[in-house]
Amino acid sequence: MTSLELDIKYNRVINEVEEDCKELLEEKEQFLILKVREYWNAIRKFNDKTRSLVQELQKQSFPGSQVQAKYEEIYHKLKVIEEFYRTKNVQLTGVYIGIMNTDKFKGKKNLLLIIDAQKDFVESGGKLFVMGAPEAMKNLCSFIDVNRKLSMISEILLTRDDHYHTHIGMPCAWLEGNPRHIINNYPITITAKQVEDGVYEPRFIQKEVVISYLKAIEAKGEIHHVWPEHCLHGDVGQQFPEQLMNSLKWWSEENGGKHFLTLEKGSRDDAEMYSAFSYADGSMPEHTKSVLNNLAEQNFDYIFVAGVAKDFCVRSTLQDLAADERFKGKLVLLEDCMAAINTKCQITEKLWKNLVENFGAEIMRGY
Ligand SMILES: [Zn+2]
Repeated sequence: MTSLELDIKYNRVINEVEEDCKELLEEKEQFLILKVREYWNAIRKFNDKTRSLVQELQKQSFPGSQVQAKYEEIYHKLKVIEEFYRTKNVQLTGVYIGIMNTDKFKGKKNLLLIIDAQKDFVESGGKLFVMGAPEAMKNLCSFIDVNRKLSMISEILLTRDDHYHTHIGMPCAWLEGNPRHIINNYPITITAKQVEDGVYEPRFIQKEVVISYLKAIEAKGEIHHVWPEHCLHGDVGQQFPEQLMNSLKWWSEENGGKHFLTLEKGSRDDAEMYSAFSYADGSMPEHTKSVLNNLAEQNFDYIFVAGVAKDFCVRSTLQDLAADERFKGKLVLLEDCMAAINTKCQITEKLWKNLVENFGAEIMRGY
């Protein structure tokens, strides 16, 4: 593809988007919620188009700086369109939060905390695929791509689920039936009583140790789950998806080569670790305690939270953050950058309400 052809292609994208926007503008007098949704769709369409254009540019093996320059140009155009809408005095809260209402986050010291954005969870065909995760990842990447320009993300910390196949949350760690065989019907839940009664039998950990662990979980109102094997140490399913890697790279380059940080969780066999910081029975190992303290001491202005699964690992991480006053008033939940296994999980809904009402957290769209 020649440079001229690229320009033509680029101009066509811009024209199409402007057409979309023009239609909306003609009806600006009736700027109701519906119209704003349409606007969002137009922006989304725009971003999808620019993304595929950038990917195409990269395939043509143009020098990196040229690709970046083209992206900057497209990005600038996006901001112009956005600014235009901003001046239309559309007073609609909620829908706008995220891209439109970024002023208070700009130039602050903000952390983006991404929970378990790993192939096994977020890519269809992943071993523990969470419905809606690809969409959430797309939104998360857009959040990074757009807001890195506004200096809204100072640090990025990604957690990584990391198990051996002998982990207590994996089928291989359990026997059932008569004659005994490895659990083959999952996901399932296992209670302390079922282990006491011999319905299920741990293969690698002492029965008494497992029973007291399960009792501790149940005392918290939770229950132990056995999942399909996922995020195995060293396996491809443990990796971050390509689109996210690209967004992380761009963010890094924008920030003088800053590195994103990762935090492994779940590699100990005898305890489930949904939260980034604590085991399912509530105990907190020294190394994650120091990570938590370190985050608090860095005194971030805001902590954006995204990832999967909203009702397990995101929820448990947020529960730990909410138990620490040092994070009060700082949490921003990027609702459209998350996906849940059970979208109607009541414990999660209760936590969200509590975070907003009592902990000064905000819920907003990342995209
Ligand atoms: Zn796991």
